[in-house]
Amino acid sequence: MNTIITKNISKKFTLGKVQALKDINIEISKGTFVGVKGPSGCGKSTLLNIISLCENPSEGELHFLDKKIDFQNKSELTKLRREKIGYVFQYFHLIQTLNTFENVELSLLLQGRKNNEQEVNNLLKLVGLEKRANHFPNQLSGGEMQRVAICRALAHKPDLIVADEPTGNLDSKTGDAVIDLLKQARNSGTTIIMASHSEQCLSHCDRVIELKDGLIVGD
Ligand code: ADP
Ligand code: MG
Repeated sequence: MNTIITKNISKKFTLGKVQALKDINIEISKGTFVGVKGPSGCGKSTLLNIISLCENPSEGELHFLDKKIDFQNKSELTKLRREKIGYVFQYFHLIQTLNTFENVELSLLLQGRKNNEQEVNNLLKLVGLEKRANHFPNQLSGGEMQRVAICRALAHKPDLIVADEPTGNLDSKTGDAVIDLLKQARNSGTTIIMASHSEQCLSHCDRVIELKDGLIVGD
């Protein structure tokens, strides 16, 4: 089974008249850890944003979990994003007014799931943050914040995790711990797509797609 199929996807930004992606054709099967590499501006984030239903392509088709995506159907996009996808960003994007426990619990509450204490605590234990449950983001290190973000991305058991330079702001040891968590998620069947500049991080991927000027130049 494929998680993602892109058919001739292109993306043009009218602002600046940039063609960020040109004719992208990829198939990603379930449970693969895919890396995306290439120089700054080559289109990595644009590709991840389209695949994770955050941006529409200018041309082409996206099939997500064997279903063709209708980018006009905003309520379906929201539902798929909330239920099927987990997001991890370079700058963590935690909610500053929520503590560690609450940041993770939020993904479950958004699906109407209450009484999640046990589940959230198990996740925090998995990433070694059980003692940080009551801390707020500004009381955590970068590596700790990214582990909270990964817990949040994993909490609702998504089919796909999209990670845009998740180790870009971390030292290499902390970065390795983050990659280990993503690998664990992959081992339980989650598909992962990660943009990265780090060859060390990319070496853990099952497959690496290389972009240059919006084109695939290696796979
Ligand atoms: P990467 O993540 O590989 O650094 P991006 O996908 O962010 O690359 O950007 C690809 C190209 O598209 C770049 O030239 C960038 O300036 C341009 N771009 C990205 N987002 C926008 C936007 N919202 N509006 C206009 N141009 C954009
Ligand atoms: Mg980027």
